[in-house]
Amino acid sequence: MTFRDLNFTEALIEGLDAMRFEKATPIQEQAIPIIQSGRDLIACAQTGTGKTAAFLLPILNELTEQPQSTVNTLILVPTRELAIQIDQALEGFSYFTPISSLAIYGGRDGEAFQQEKKALSKGANVIIATPGRLISHLNLGYAMFSEIKHLILDEADRMLDMGFVNDIKKIITFLPKERQTLMFSATMSPRIEQLARNILNKPKSISLSNARPAEGISQGAFKLPEEVKMELLTYLLNIQKGHKDKMLVFASTKVKVKQIRYDLSQSGLNAAEIHSDLGQDERREVLSKFHNGTVQVLVATDILARGIDVKDIELVINYDLPSDPEDFVHRIGRTARAEAKGSALALVSPKEKRYFKNIEHLIKMEIPILPLPPFLEKSIQKIKEKRKKEGPSKGKRSYKNKSKSYKPKNKKVSKR
Ligand code: AMP
Repeated sequence: MTFRDLNFTEALIEGLDAMRFEKATPIQEQAIPIIQSGRDLIACAQTGTGKTAAFLLPILNELTEQPQSTVNTLILVPTRELAIQIDQALEGFSYFTPISSLAIYGGRDGEAFQQEKKALSKGANVIIATPGRLISHLNLGYAMFSEIKHLILDEADRMLDMGFVNDIKKIITFLPKERQTLMFSATMSPRIEQLARNILNKPKSISLSNARPAEGISQGAFKLPEEVKMELLTYLLNIQKGHKDKMLVFASTKVKVKQIRYDLSQSGLNAAEIHSDLGQDERREVLSKFHNGTVQVLVATDILARGIDVKDIELVINYDLPSDPEDFVHRIGRTARAEAKGSALALVSPKEKRYFKNIEHLIKMEIPILPLPPFLEKSIQKIKEKRKKEGPSKGKRSYKNKSKSYKPKNKKVSKR
């Protein structure tokens, strides 16, 4: 289906042409007519399959046909980076229309706060916001939300989990009861879906492969002691280094992210880190360097796990496993976007065995266990001996490695 078949205005089609969007993706094909019909919607589709345009385009089309001088749509997202990204996509799509928008997120100075205040009180058409910063504004009483027609929760399951749900409930008290509410994510557990249904009004549901990793991701896992993860990581990244591909490493804490980045830089890799200890300008700069290829390896906490769309990430490595299996699906979903291909590798220590099982259970597939490179055997042997000396209770768990071999993808071996 082309976007012309969806009866979009010429101005919007022009924007889509400029962005080289020709055909609608399956989630767009299914979601757009439902959104246009005015129904509430809960939509699940794999990472990187075009959910952003699925919710933005019908809203932008409506705003092009029926311009409004107040806030028409509120989009809530979990991270600053995602707010910025959605605003940029919106600017692209609506380039030939008079639609106005603003991303509202924390960590910026008073001048930015004033700009946000103006957008909220004078009425930018679309506001994309992280909950905390928006609530700071709402508490001051000037937001013109009485004519909002659409509320969108992107990464909806994240927005409704414990960290955000109270903020979302509070924000909803500022919105008209008569509105359309749309929820999008790549994962949606039954518990969260139940909660979502309390906010939605007789929603339609679309579920395209809930919690299934994108088709183009080839996965593997290494089982190994925690102590040798760094050695393996450095080895794996070095294999890809010469190929100019972007690589993303996830770790669950800021402390680990910093340590890993430091060690990688020490070993000569072009690595940077991103986590919430960085100032907003630093976060923006690092991500922009990763986008433009100035940085090849980015080590990140889960602030980068959801929604972030960076072209040409060839490899995602989970240095550790997230306790929440849904986060794993989102982390590896940073590769193989928009029908591209990519690899995802997980480093699994004995303590993470349970997380690994939970992940396999969620994604309903076995992740192939890959053999460790022989040079690691020495290090592992040393660890075993050390543990033996330390006493019988330590060092009992071990992993056997099955014999499928890891071949880095996309490698053209030249004979010359
Ligand atoms: P999203 O899942 O919304 O982050 O989109 C993933 C990637 O696919 C982004 O780089 C989008 O620009 C791209 N994309 C989404 N929909 C289309 C489409 N219909 N045609 C071409 N590219 C698209």
